[in-house]
Amino acid sequence: MPYLVEFIRNSDSTIATHCTCPTSQNGQYCHHRFNIIEGKTADIVSENLDEVETVQSWIPGSEIETAMVEVQRLDDEIAKAKELLAAVKNEATRAMMN
Ligand SMILES: [Zn+2]
Repeated sequence: MPYLVEFIRNSDSTIATHCTCPTSQNGQYCHHRFNIIEGKTADIVSENLDEVETVQSWIPGSEIETAMVEVQRLDDEIAKAKELLAAVKNEATRAMMN
């Protein structure tokens, strides 16, 4: 079932976003909105794909950009932690074979 995702640029350049998915309605992370911000259009079924670029042009300098930078930083940290964890697990496995 498709969800309606809206982006509205306010007169003070802040950006309001809405999505009708249950996750978003509960005020939680909604990948539908993130996908549009990141320019991922594969799952969009509406006829306004060209508006994704417009929304993306609103992001630089916005609070959303600041938050997205932090999301990326933490994603990178998690990826590094997972790599480190895998290496330590391998090390533990090798130690068990001694
Ligand atoms: Zn959503």
